[in-house]
Amino acid sequence: MYKSFLIKYGEIAIKGKNRYLFEDALVSQINYALKPVDGEFKVRKVQGRIYVDALSEYDYDEVIEALSHVFGIVGICPVVLVEDEGFEKLVEDVLVYMDSVYPNKNITFKVNARRARKNYPMESMEINAKLGERILDAFPEIRVDVHKPDVMLCVEIREKINIYSIEIPGPGGMPVGTNGKAMLLLSGGIDSPVAGYMIAKRGVAIDATYFHAPPYTSERAKQKVVDLARIVSKYAGPINLHVVNFTDIQLYIYEQCPHEELTIIMRRYMMKIAEHFASENNCLGLVTGESIGQVASQTMQSLAATNAVCTLPVYRPLIGFDKNEIIDISEKIDAYETSIQPFEDCCTIFVAKHPVTKPNLKVIERSETKLEEKIDELMKVAIETTEVIRVTAEE
Ligand code: ATP
Ligand code: MG
Repeated sequence: MYKSFLIKYGEIAIKGKNRYLFEDALVSQINYALKPVDGEFKVRKVQGRIYVDALSEYDYDEVIEALSHVFGIVGICPVVLVEDEGFEKLVEDVLVYMDSVYPNKNITFKVNARRARKNYPMESMEINAKLGERILDAFPEIRVDVHKPDVMLCVEIREKINIYSIEIPGPGGMPVGTNGKAMLLLSGGIDSPVAGYMIAKRGVAIDATYFHAPPYTSERAKQKVVDLARIVSKYAGPINLHVVNFTDIQLYIYEQCPHEELTIIMRRYMMKIAEHFASENNCLGLVTGESIGQVASQTMQSLAATNAVCTLPVYRPLIGFDKNEIIDISEKIDAYETSIQPFEDCCTIFVAKHPVTKPNLKVIERSETKLEEKIDELMKVAIETTEVIRVTAEE
């Protein structure tokens, strides 16, 4: 029955000039989200409102599902738009609306009229009273409750008249693209896809870097990361995924450096390479799925040692989360089932039995001098042979 959806978005972020940027980004993200949905849609911006019009048949649940991935949306209201053809016609349209949306009339309601077009001949209060009365007349079972109604019937007099009473919560946040871009270090684990989701929620577009170590990590492990990038891209928009062949660097570190320092040193080279691609792609920061104390490489000392090689800011949206809180979000965004598929990741193969938990930066830097002979060349080759995969929400 609905041919349109009214999109509600947060007002705080859109003061002044930012309004256009915010709305345009929102329109473009809505279009992106609707692309894989069957049917033809038009997204329009009119007088501080965004509407999605369905120009063909469509599946209601599929549209709601797609829109619920668009950051910046606070509420999705399926709306009936009618022409202004006098009050009697409006009464008729409202009764049809109430009857079809609420077949069970054992409910309370309140009319909330808003006259956004001042040349309409009745004031809001009058519309409330008269429409309320006519609804009561038409449906004897229904009751008014002005304080806590089951149904808040909104009737907005605009160019067309908007009739709606249902608001499905959106994901909140800010439209992707309104806050620059960052480079996500994306592994096949649980945490980094969640970190990508969190940063995208604040309006940041993302690219990603994955460190692959064939033959120690399989093609399936790589495919899993592509699948995770696709899940994140439903929220974050298209992601350019950089797949770096990290094997030779890892082996070299393994040969030259103390084994208890492997993870930290390896992590530092990951950061350096990710930063290279970040700068090349106008990213304003790096993003990881780290959280304090989760594993040896995420103690405050380890994070400091990893951080020391970076010149860009490193964002760690999960820094204060417990694992179970991260898992909750992972499940919510439908990443969990993919994340727990049992394919080895490059770190699990080269882990030491007793990794340092309080690395000393000076000591780590001294160990790294043992890499001087070949590391620049290996980094250069790794960067040159990196494969870039463009991942979007469409399969
Ligand atoms: P995740 O679940 O994200 O893999 P984790 O708990 O396994 O995290 P670590 O393996 O210590 O933690 O990795 C910490 C962070 O380093 C990850 O969240 C991710 O951002 C980055 N990272 C680790 N391994 C890789 C990899 N192979 N490719 C890209 N980034 C990686
Ligand atoms: Mg991991």
